Amino acid sequence: MSEEEQQQCVFCHIASGKIPAKKVYEDDKVAAVLDINPATSGHVLVIPKEHVSVMPQMSEELVAHLGMISKQLSFALIRALKVEGTSVFVANGVAAGQRAPHFLLHIIPRSANDGVALQLLPAKLDEKSVNETIAKLVPAVGKQFGVDIKLPAVEKPKAKLEKAEKSKEKPEKPKPADGKSELDRITEMLAK
Ligand SMILES: [Zn+2]
Repeated sequence: MSEEEQQQCVFCHIASGKIPAKKVYEDDKVAAVLDINPATSGHVLVIPKEHVSVMPQMSEELVAHLGMISKQLSFALIRALKVEGTSVFVANGVAAGQRAPHFLLHIIPRSANDGVALQLLPAKLDEKSVNETIAKLVPAVGKQFGVDIKLPAVEKPKAKLEKAEKSKEKPEKPKPADGKSELDRITEMLAK
């Protein structure tokens, strides 16, 4: 993006305060504002003050900072709005649904049956394609981290399938007397 285009970036102006917005948090690196097209009430956009488009362009320091902000804002949203959780969402690239030229991190307050369509439906991939993916990905991850990661020995597809089937068959752990699952407890703990 040219400097001129950057000067026209709406989200740079929102982050700097040149364009007014309903701000919920600010520090030297980010501003967090209510989304004007919220998925649910309290939907927050965390906007880096530096103009970056996608996460891979960011400094590790900024990415770490965004992680911390996600945690703290999630807690604040859950407590203030009496919701049961948050979805933390980033679209890196147009294909992923990114519309703004400026990186945005969405923190969306969630409640059961709130109708937000973020459910991921599993793609049907065969064993060969999964193995091809892992063969491409593992060396690239190693390169990214500057370490040599050895590929694990490939399990025979049949053995792997049988294992997966077996684990599916395993009966669920008996529910505790109060009928609450571990996730129910986490939800309650978050709201406290
Ligand atoms: Zn910008």
